[in-house]
Amino acid sequence: MKRRDPRQRQRRHIDRSFDTLKHDPYLERGKPRGPAVCPDCGAVFRRGRWQWGEASERATPHLCAACRRVRERAPAGTVRLSGEFFAAHRSEMLAVVRNEERRESRLHPLQRVMATREARGALEVSTTDLHLARRIGEALCSAYHGRLQVRYSPDEYRVRVNWSR
Ligand SMILES: [Zn+2]
Repeated sequence: MKRRDPRQRQRRHIDRSFDTLKHDPYLERGKPRGPAVCPDCGAVFRRGRWQWGEASERATPHLCAACRRVRERAPAGTVRLSGEFFAAHRSEMLAVVRNEERRESRLHPLQRVMATREARGALEVSTTDLHLARRIGEALCSAYHGRLQVRYSPDEYRVRVNWSR
C-alpha cells in the first residue's frame, strides 16, 4: 500500500486509546440531554454514557449512535479478512470476530458488528465503532498472526483494518 501522508505512518505505531480519538460526530449528534432509552436496541443513556440496564421512568426515547449508524448504513470501522489461510479457516476466524464483539458490546453498547459481507474472496465486517474494528484485527493477529494494517481516514472518524494470512 502506498502512503501519501507521512503522519499516517507514524500514527500506526502510536497506541492510542479510544478516548484520545476525536469525538465521533455520530456520538455527538446522538447525545441525549437527559436520561434516555434507545427504541431499537434498548440501551440506556445514564450519567453521560450509553449502557445496558433498566431505563429510569424519566427516560425518553432516543436513538443511540450505534443504531443510527445501522439505520443509515454508515459504519465507523471496516475489517477486511482475506488470504488462503482465512479461506481455509473461515468459521474459526468468524468465531474470533463474534467473540470480540460479544466481549466489547457487553460493556459498551455502542460497539457492535453491523454486517458481514463477501467481497471477492474476502470477508468484510463493518462495525459501529472504531475501537471494535481495531480490536478484531488485533485479536485475529494475536490468535493467528498474519498481516495487520490499520488505517484511519484523514478526519479519523473512520478506520479500515486489513487482516490477511
Ligand atoms: Zn440503539
